[in-house]
Amino acid sequence: MTLSTPVSVLPGVGEHRAPAWEKLGLRTVLDLIRHLPSRYEQEFAEGSIADLPMQGHGSARGTVVSTRYVPGGRGRNRRGRFQARLEDHSGKIDVVWFNGSYLRDKLHAGMTIRVAGKAQAYQGHAQLVNPQWEELDESDQPPATRDRIRPVYPASEQVPSRAIETVITAALPQVHGALADPLPGDYLEQRALPDLAAAYRAVHLPDREEDYKSGRRRLIYNELLLLQLGIAIRRHYARTRLRAWPLNRTEAIDEHIRERFPFDLTEAQDQVIGEIAADLEQTKPMNRLLQGDVGAGKTVVALYAMLLAVADRKQAALMAPTELLAEQHYASISEMLRDSTVRVALLTSGQVAAGSAQREALLGEIERGRYDIIIGTSALLSDAVRFHDLAVAVVDEQHRFGVHQRAALRSMTARPSSDQATDPDAAPAELVEAYRSPHYLVMTATPIPRSLSLTLFGDLDVSVLSGLPPGRSAITTRVVLPDQADKVYHYLAGRVEAGEQAYIVLPAIEASEHESARDLKNLRAHQKLLAEKYFPGVHVASVHGRLKRRTRESVMARFRAGRVGVLVATTVIEVGVDVPNATIMVIEHAERFGLAQLHQLRGRIGRGKGGPKSLCVFIADPNNPDAAQRMEAIGSTTDGFAIAEKDLVIRGMGEFFGTRQHGAPPLRIARLPEDMDLLRLARHDAQQIVQADPTLTDPANTRLRKVLIQQYGNSLGLIDVG
Ligand code: ADP
Ligand code: MG
Repeated sequence: MTLSTPVSVLPGVGEHRAPAWEKLGLRTVLDLIRHLPSRYEQEFAEGSIADLPMQGHGSARGTVVSTRYVPGGRGRNRRGRFQARLEDHSGKIDVVWFNGSYLRDKLHAGMTIRVAGKAQAYQGHAQLVNPQWEELDESDQPPATRDRIRPVYPASEQVPSRAIETVITAALPQVHGALADPLPGDYLEQRALPDLAAAYRAVHLPDREEDYKSGRRRLIYNELLLLQLGIAIRRHYARTRLRAWPLNRTEAIDEHIRERFPFDLTEAQDQVIGEIAADLEQTKPMNRLLQGDVGAGKTVVALYAMLLAVADRKQAALMAPTELLAEQHYASISEMLRDSTVRVALLTSGQVAAGSAQREALLGEIERGRYDIIIGTSALLSDAVRFHDLAVAVVDEQHRFGVHQRAALRSMTARPSSDQATDPDAAPAELVEAYRSPHYLVMTATPIPRSLSLTLFGDLDVSVLSGLPPGRSAITTRVVLPDQADKVYHYLAGRVEAGEQAYIVLPAIEASEHESARDLKNLRAHQKLLAEKYFPGVHVASVHGRLKRRTRESVMARFRAGRVGVLVATTVIEVGVDVPNATIMVIEHAERFGLAQLHQLRGRIGRGKGGPKSLCVFIADPNNPDAAQRMEAIGSTTDGFAIAEKDLVIRGMGEFFGTRQHGAPPLRIARLPEDMDLLRLARHDAQQIVQADPTLTDPANTRLRKVLIQQYGNSLGLIDVG
């Protein structure tokens, strides 16, 4: 037997049952070994019913002779209970499960079961209370003869945990020798970790709790070490093989840039700009993540970095997740750069048809370097877009981009520019072989707990932009039930008439035929209602994702200019939209939105200096506990970090970093933040290993290298380098 032996040839599986095993991801012996128990159960040696110890743990098997469900009553006996009488050759015992109504269709007279638990005296009789139990099919299972810990595996109806256990128990000793450890013995000893074979034995066949705990630690360490090695090698590769244009900041340039901003930078902005400017001076590309809450003022920081590129006669690009946001950046940046020599372009997919003469012309001018700053959506990633000399690439609201787009961005970073390919003399000799890469700044308003950012963005340096710019007005938040909506709008009518502007957010554009959405208010009907009933003298307009760019731009321009009083919108306004005079927001059906999203939406108001106090009203029908928790959280704080933490608690890490939003973390066993200590250790070790032997060509690292190539293919560049 080897690790690649298919499970279909194993006794206990066989050809015809193999498909059911495959459904669990179990194809080969290696899959089996890597299929870890989800938990463990204490099993006790079985005795006869008459010998069950009073007040001590014991286990016995017997036949169910009768069952009875006693529903809960009032007062002390509120809990219902399920009772069974169990019999063997030695005697009988009553077994009771409180709250056991779920057992009514599971346990029947005539079944043979094994029970394990504590026997107690009740009204003079022995009784087992809430024991563990399992059904035995008669042919099966000799009685347990000793106390031991049993693994419980992720299983299915066709392939129960017990069957998996039997097969693994038989297979493990046969492949023990094949589980070669990629790490040397003394290395493991120093860290008090067992070798891989011992670790697998300990998690599958533990004698004591300490066994599976230490085995698990080793497997988690392994997983985290491989991940961190991948990150460290990539980072090393970026530092040594990728070259960027060093961009110098002089006092004159600094002054020049600041003159363009309509305000003084805050201390926090100055500090972050300092960190970025120091990176930009290097010939190795910057790789920096800028975190800052909604409204923290990240845009000018990005613009500063881009203008440093322009000052050096290079190009800069800014990528935004939505057309609306790209258009807004284009409008506000063009405004700040008005009457300067800096040329700004906007490139989105909706703006000009692909293949049109207009688009070709724009692309041509970008490639010839006629534009200095190119702002766009993911359209920037298209192969058709070639930059003349891209020195700074900024990604705004990066958490909104899909996994694939982020990967594409990385490849853009390493795409050789066309003039480099045709004109090797343009670069110093040492650069000819290397890829020319832009400096890379990604920005996010989703605060990412440190443990998670180390695994997901481990190759990025992190800057945090804390606090908000001065003069921000606090926001009053109210969460109300749908039957209050009428009152809310009547109240708002007064404020809007006095000159304030409002966003009203709805989850859908049109009425839906769909069962689950039939009762939802929709944008079209609601806009009509608002215009006729509540805001008759006011211009009520709408924006959503299906509008043509020209229409959307003109609506936004009129809203910004104060000519539209009420803007009815879908969540397209969630990111980046910045209209300081808008001081009111209403979110309908708020229970349907995620916490992070509600926070982002609310961040659209409270942007004015002085003036009336901003008001955000969440109209919600929290029909489940999660929704209720979200409403309670959003109503109680405006601090983005606090909200992100609550979000993590409510949704759990899997969801928080679920595939939908961020791409699944490549972790099977490790749990964060619980395993933070191992993550730190693995990160430290990986950095040391890569520093000493970046291509892992040292014979001591041969196995490690092989495992990494298996895991990452050649994306780490190990094959051609070594
Ligand atoms: P975010 O971090 O959410 O992208 P923005 O960059 O959109 O935030 O900034 C939010 C608002 O704060 C904008 O209206 C911007 O003009 C303003 N702002 C940014 N920096 C300052 C500053 N130093 N002083 C005053 N207002 C500022
Ligand atoms: Mg922003």
